[in-house]
Amino acid sequence: MRRKLAAGNWKMNGTAASLTELDALKSLLPADAPDVVICPPAPLLFRATQAAAGTSIQIGAQDCHMQESGAFTGDISASMIADTGATHVIVGHSERREGHEERDRDVRKKAKTAWVAGLTAIICIGETLEDHEANNTLDIIAGQLAGSLPGGMTATNTVIAYEPIWAIGTGKVPTLEQIVEVHDFIRERITARFGGDVADMIPLLYGGSVKPDNAATIFKAENVDGALVGGASLRAADFAPIIAALAKS
Ligand code: PEP
Repeated sequence: MRRKLAAGNWKMNGTAASLTELDALKSLLPADAPDVVICPPAPLLFRATQAAAGTSIQIGAQDCHMQESGAFTGDISASMIADTGATHVIVGHSERREGHEERDRDVRKKAKTAWVAGLTAIICIGETLEDHEANNTLDIIAGQLAGSLPGGMTATNTVIAYEPIWAIGTGKVPTLEQIVEVHDFIRERITARFGGDVADMIPLLYGGSVKPDNAATIFKAENVDGALVGGASLRAADFAPIIAALAKS
């Protein structure tokens, strides 16, 4: 059985006061909750791991540098993230790919650095609206998988998140058929490259405007093992029903 995962990406939102949402989430988690990871902004990582201690909630970062240490002012290494008690790191989010010109090979290096630090890398891929409308989605996804996934991927060191860029923060969601097509395709491609034993166990998340009212539909797809959630992860009252829908799926 593949593990199910609900990951929340707070992006550049929140201060120490926002950690009360973690306390609220603890009390709202169903008994059969799937894995839950909250990715707050970097300055909150240590406090978040303290706030989540003793619960099943895990903490992740939103990015790491591809190098282990050095003269990279303002950047954060994977080992620094691990040192806070965090267990996961998102790499290759489209807001990093677009806003910071990160390429597949940067994402691949970041994932490897994350593994060395003992972190699970949540590797994001997804097509632009232009590519979606031109029916290029599967070609783009194939290229990103080939370029962003390092050799050595295992079911414990990697989660893959498919996030169509046009669905992030827009309220637009692909049809269930479109989500099924892309997730089935990702499973096939990673099976071809890494073999079924690894590929069958890698959690595949869908991300892009997942909300309490559409989560159950999205989780019907066999190869959707959870969600990467932005806006709706900021408040426990919104994230908890998504987690509950995943638990029931
Ligand atoms: C995201 O940023 O990864 C995301 C999916 O955002 P939202 O849920 O707000 O669309």
